[in-house]
Amino acid sequence: MVSKFIFVTGGVVSSLGKGLTTASIGLLLRARGLSVRVQKLDPYINVDPGTMNPFQHGEVFVTDDGAETDLDLGHYERFIDRPMSQESNYTTGRIYSDVIERERRGEYLGATVQVVPHITNAIKEAFTSLESDDVDVIMVELGGTVGDIEGLPYIEAFRQFSLEREDNDVMFIHLTLIPYLSASGEVKTKPTQHSVQKLREYGIQPDMLICRTEVHVSEDHKEKIALFCNVNKKRVIDEKNVDHSIYEVPIMLRDQCVDATICKHFGIESKEPVITDWEKMIQTVINPDHDVEIAVVGKYIALTDSYKSVYEALTHGGIANKSKVTFRKVEAEEIEAQGADKLLAGVSGVLVPGGFGLRGAEGKMAAIKWARESKVPYLGLCYGLQCAVIEYARNVCGVKDAISAEWFDEEGVGDLSKAFVALMDSQQKVTAKGGTMRLGAYACSLKKDTLARAAYDAEIVRERHRHRYEVNPEKVETLKKHGMTISGRNPDSQLVEIIELADHPWFVATQAHPEFKSRPTNAHPLFKAFINAALKHNGSIDG
Ligand code: GLN
Repeated sequence: MVSKFIFVTGGVVSSLGKGLTTASIGLLLRARGLSVRVQKLDPYINVDPGTMNPFQHGEVFVTDDGAETDLDLGHYERFIDRPMSQESNYTTGRIYSDVIERERRGEYLGATVQVVPHITNAIKEAFTSLESDDVDVIMVELGGTVGDIEGLPYIEAFRQFSLEREDNDVMFIHLTLIPYLSASGEVKTKPTQHSVQKLREYGIQPDMLICRTEVHVSEDHKEKIALFCNVNKKRVIDEKNVDHSIYEVPIMLRDQCVDATICKHFGIESKEPVITDWEKMIQTVINPDHDVEIAVVGKYIALTDSYKSVYEALTHGGIANKSKVTFRKVEAEEIEAQGADKLLAGVSGVLVPGGFGLRGAEGKMAAIKWARESKVPYLGLCYGLQCAVIEYARNVCGVKDAISAEWFDEEGVGDLSKAFVALMDSQQKVTAKGGTMRLGAYACSLKKDTLARAAYDAEIVRERHRHRYEVNPEKVETLKKHGMTISGRNPDSQLVEIIELADHPWFVATQAHPEFKSRPTNAHPLFKAFINAALKHNGSIDG
C-alpha cells in the first residue's frame, strides 16, 4: 500500500497554530490505529534553526538523532508520541545546499539547474523520503502563509505531486483565520476567500478548511465559506480558541469528524479513535487539586516560545501531580538589578533552562543561590546545571573566581584554570580550542540512592543534549568534597550528566534537555518529581 499524503498550508496570518492543528490531527489518526509520520517544511534560508536567535524563532527542538529543528516538532512529539528525526524538518537552505552540492558533483549532467524542476524535485524527495510500506499517512506542514514568495516552490511541489498520484492519495488542508470584529460584532470571511483564491491560482483546491476563530462560525457563515471557497460545507471546520488548554484541540477536531472525514477521503477503513487517557488528562487540567508557582529564570523570557518545551514539561509535571502550574517568568538580568529575594519571594520552585553566553549568567547564579539557601526546589537544565556548578564552586567550595570557559572564550572573562565548566577534546581532556557540540541522545547511568535515580526509577536513561561545554572532570573532586553528589554520569566518557545536593529537599540539575521528552499523558520523571517537591514546599501535599 502506498502512503497517503496530507499537505497542511496556512492562510491570512502566521501564528494560527498550524503546528498544533497538524499535531492534533496526527494524534487522532494514530488513535485510529494508523501509522503516521509528520514533516515540517520551513521556507527560510537558514540550513537549520540551530543558529537562529530564540527571540525570532523560539526554541530549537532537538531530536534523538541530533537534529536541531523547528519547535513545531515538539508539538508533533507531544501529541503523536513518536520521536522525530533529521527527516522531520527541512528548510529551503537545506534543500538548496543539497541541490548545489549535487550540481558541483556534476550530477545534473550539464543541465541548467532551476527551481522547477530541480528544487521542486528535491522538495518532493524530502517528503517522499518518509514513505514506506508500514506508514499509512504522511502529514507535511508548510511554514509561513500562502502568498509568501518563499513558499512558492513548496506549493508547486505539492501541486505536481498531487498530479503524479491517484486522487485519493493526496489531501490538502488549509488552516485559515476568520477574524471577529468586536466593533460590529461580526465575523469576516473575506480574508479566507482571498487566501483560498490564492491557493487555487497556484493550482491547489483545498479539500478541507480549518477556520481559526474567536467565536463559533455559524452555519450561515460555513455555507458562505463553502460556496466561495469551493469546499463542501461538511469540510469547513470550526477551530475556535480553546477555553482551557491547547490539549483540547484534538477533541474539538474529533467532535467535528475531522479524522473520519480524512479517512473517508483516503478510503482508509479504521476504528473510531480511542483517546480516553488524553481526555482524562484534560479533566485534570480543567479541575486541578492544587496550584503551584514556579519561577523560570532565563535570558529570552519575554517570548514564551523560547522555552516552549520547558513550560510544556512543567505543565505535564503538574498534571502528573494533579496540579496547575503557574509560571513566574523572570529575566535573569533583572535579578542582577533587583536581587533574587525581591523577584523570587513566594515561588515554590526555581528552574533555570538552557542558555548560552555570559549575559544574564550572574542573575541565573543568584537565583540558584537563593533556591539553594532557602531550600526551595530547584531544577537546572543544561546551562542551568553549569550555572549551578559554578555557583556552588564560588559560594560553597570557596573558589570565588570560578567560571565557565565559555565566558573566557567569548568575552575573555576570567582565568581558565578556574573553569569548573570547560571544553573537552575527544579524549575527554580539557582543551582550549575546538570542542564540538554534544547533540542528540546520550546515555546516563544513575547512582543508587539519589533523587535522580528515585525520579527515573531506572539505572540507565537516555536524554537529548545540545551543548559545547561540560563539567570539568578535573574539578569534580572539589565539588564532591564540598557535598555535591554526582548522581548521573555518561557510562562511556564518565562526563557529569546529573548533579544534586543531599542537604536540600530537592536540588537536581542535568546536563541534558529532558523537557523534549515529556508528554502530556506521561510527564518526564524529573519534572514530575520537581513539581511534587514544589507541592510539598508550598504545603499542598505532605512530605
Ligand atoms: N552554553 C552552554 C554550552 O554550550 C549550555 C548550552 C545549553 O544550555 N543548551 O555548553
